[in-house]
Amino acid sequence: MSQPEHVVVIGAGLGGVRTVEQLRNAGFQGAISLVGAEPHAPYDRPPLSKQILTGAHGPEDIVLLGADALKKLNVDMRLGVPVVALHEGVVELADGTTIEADAFVIATGATPRRLPGQPDDVHTLRTLDDSLSLRSALRDATSLLVVGGGFIGAEVASGAVGRGLKVTVLEALPVPADRAFGQEVGAVYGRLITEGGVDLRLGAKLTRFLDSRTVELADGERLSSDVVLVGIGAAPAVDWWDHEGVNTTHGIACDSSGRVLGTSGVWAVGDVAAWDEPLRGEHVRHEHWTSAADQAAIVARDIVGAEPQKPTLPYFWSDQFGLRIQGLGHTELGDSVAALHGEGLSGGAIKGTVVGYFAGDRLVAVVGFGAARWVVRYRALIAKGAHHSEVFALK
Ligand SMILES: Cc1cc2nc3c(=O)[nH]c(=O)nc-3n(C[C@H](O)[C@H](O)[C@H](O)COP(=O)(O)OP(=O)(O)OC[C@H]3O[C@@H](n4cnc5c(N)ncnc54)[C@H](O)[C@@H]3O)c2cc1C
Repeated sequence: MSQPEHVVVIGAGLGGVRTVEQLRNAGFQGAISLVGAEPHAPYDRPPLSKQILTGAHGPEDIVLLGADALKKLNVDMRLGVPVVALHEGVVELADGTTIEADAFVIATGATPRRLPGQPDDVHTLRTLDDSLSLRSALRDATSLLVVGGGFIGAEVASGAVGRGLKVTVLEALPVPADRAFGQEVGAVYGRLITEGGVDLRLGAKLTRFLDSRTVELADGERLSSDVVLVGIGAAPAVDWWDHEGVNTTHGIACDSSGRVLGTSGVWAVGDVAAWDEPLRGEHVRHEHWTSAADQAAIVARDIVGAEPQKPTLPYFWSDQFGLRIQGLGHTELGDSVAALHGEGLSGGAIKGTVVGYFAGDRLVAVVGFGAARWVVRYRALIAKGAHHSEVFALK
């Protein structure tokens, strides 16, 4: 395949910016346009629930692509104007302009899910503006209610507890982050949140909002708080695209090089994309920083026709309650877990705990709590699906 002359990257977040950088790294000399819906210079999202909220970082500290870098990359960047349509060979922007190109990379990320009847002034957290608005609301608050026990909500809870707020987290399932960890490790994670000083309510189902500060639970209990944050996940941002013939049910369905199935000359990366994962036999959307960055490199090399990049293991991290949680590999493929280090799984100290996930007797993932130096040591063993005995020999 000959190289395209002009690549349009739709979405100026991590996946979009990394795609642009990787295209130039791979030697692409054609034209690149980068279009972003938000008015801000492209920025990094993980600090939005961490350092931006605590005030340790300002917006200027999280910029991904500053003016100098932009100049070097020779990119036509258009910010504050969303793409509203993608047709064969052309995108349309909300201001009525169009850009013609022969390759398109969709990197539009995801949009926070909302609950039925959720008042507009209940907070969600996805953008810099969301984070600044939440930071300002928390400044004078004495209490915070978080709906959803996922990572983003728990990170916000952790920061708020640290500032002396009374924090309640509602989780509908029996353990938080069940999808990422499964039951046993989810229970350890729940203990981390509780020991961190949060009133974590498990199996708590919110039935309605009475107003933007008060919710009612299925058992009739009403909870009020100065600030309410809903953190129940995010849906792929594809509403702008009239994507006839493309499966977007769980993200834009792509092959394992990021090519959008049912199209030609269109790729997708990051939180919006569901890539084919032969190991799992399905299309999977990983909403993790490292996945967006890794996919951008794979797509850039595919666009220029370079040697494919080796697939990497899924990886995520979350910083909360004084430690870093890390997940490496496919936890969802595990049918059993075993403690590799530390006492967390048996009810002891959580810090220093590393848990291995096994499919049969093969290692498929590890999760660590404040145990970074151990987690990385299992990378090669996960990659080759090491046998139980070899894994335990490393302990
Ligand atoms: C608060 C928060 C904390 C996080 N913390 C962690 C963490 O600790 N560890 C971790 O592994 N991951 C973390 N993540 C996840 C990580 O940040 C994402 O996986 C990553 O940002 C995905 O990159 P992306 O480019 O796919 O999407 P995004 O970064 O969301 O970028 C998408 C961009 O596309 C723009 N856009 C949307 N629609 C259009 C349109 N129609 N036209 C043009 N532009 C459009 C959006 O405005 C946005 O700027 C966190 C995410 C959030 C929100």
